Order: sequence, then C-alpha cells, then structure tokens
Amino acid sequence: MQEYIQGQAAEPFVILRHDVDRKPGMALEMAQMEKEMGIRATYYFRMMPEVFDPEMIKMIRDMGHEIGYHYEVLDKAKGDKEKAIDLFEKELKIFREIVVVKTVCMHGNPLAKWSNRDLWEKYDFRDFELIGEPYLSIDYNKVLYLSDTGRIWNRNFSVKDVVNSNFNEIINSTDDIIKLIKIQKYKNICILVHPNRWTDDALNWLIELIWQNIKNVPKCGLLLYRTGKT
Ligand SMILES: [Zn+2]
Repeated sequence: MQEYIQGQAAEPFVILRHDVDRKPGMALEMAQMEKEMGIRATYYFRMMPEVFDPEMIKMIRDMGHEIGYHYEVLDKAKGDKEKAIDLFEKELKIFREIVVVKTVCMHGNPLAKWSNRDLWEKYDFRDFELIGEPYLSIDYNKVLYLSDTGRIWNRNFSVKDVVNSNFNEIINSTDDIIKLIKIQKYKNICILVHPNRWTDDALNWLIELIWQNIKNVPKCGLLLYRTGKT
C-alpha cells in the first residue's frame, strides 16, 4: 500500500491488503505463507485486546510486510468526531511504539450509523504523518478492487466496504481471480483478504460459512433499508 501511494508500484501490480479483524494467529500464518512465496502484503491491525498483539505484529513486520492501523475510533466514540480524533492520535502512538506506520485503514462495522472514514470530513490524516488511507487514496476506476467482505467476492452484502468504481467485473470464485491475474486483464488490482476467514481446516471452514450466512441476512436487510428499497 505504502509503495503504491508513493508512486513506486510498477505495473502490473496487485496491492494485497489484509484487515486483521479477529484471530491474529491466522494473520501470522498467512504472513508466513506469503513470505515463503516471496509476496509482501499490508496488514491492518485493529486496536482491540484480542487483536493487537505487539509480538505478533513485529513478527509479521520482520517478514517484510507493511503494518498499518485498522482504526474504528468513530465507533468507539459513538460518532463523536472530537473524541474520535483524540483516540486516533492515542492509538496511533501506541502502534508507533512498536512499528513504523505510514498508512491507516478504516474498519467497517455494518451496524453503526456512521462510517469510520467520516472522521476525515473534519480532519486530515496527513496531519498525523500518514501518507494514505486505502478508501481515500486509491482511484478505484484505475485499480480493480476485489474484497472478500461477507465471505463472497462480489460485494452484495457489504454495508461499509464500498468504493466508487466503474468496473463491473463479475467474480464467482477465487479461481476467477487467479484467471484474471494470469491473463493480466487488469494491470492494477487491489485485493482485500481477511485472514480470519481463510483456513485449510474443514471444521473452521464450516463454522465460518455458517457464521457469515447468519450475518449476511441482517446486513442484506440493512442495505435494503438504507437504500430505501423496503
Ligand atoms: Zn475490519
């Protein structure tokens, strides 16, 4: 992410973004696999007791990956932007005590009335020695955005993970993405993968499948409600 924002990404490229929402151990496993394959990615960690694990974060950094801060301060401050920006500064400082942070990325909570990126309607992340935010710093008309939010590659159930884009690529499976990359249909791609959703263990896979299907039902209702279709 950092290299792309600094204009150092040579085409063709894939920006591989990982939001670590839960289970940091699964992020560590993914980071290790990527390292073995010669892939570098960006890992955004939430500042939550069960996710913010300094030792694990440093291990992932030492594998050559970028670390960023997955902020949700507007959720934590219940929509109060002044409280939220104070918390942002505080949490960013805690991150920077262990690693260099150049980019930050909002966490999406489908049930909140606000979106964490609304913070930047009033403030500027550049005032915090940051260079980018994936939802604000990437032109998704030039970079194809693919996200696993909702455990599905197209974004039907996504409430917060939305970007403006003219691309209309139908993705039915991960194999479609592999094909797209192989034939280089797009020179610039950004892929969001949540490490906690991906497992090679059959039981964990089934639990994730059932859990996400339960979550998608109210999210779908919420979307219909917000878009005025109900
Ligand atoms: Zn998230």
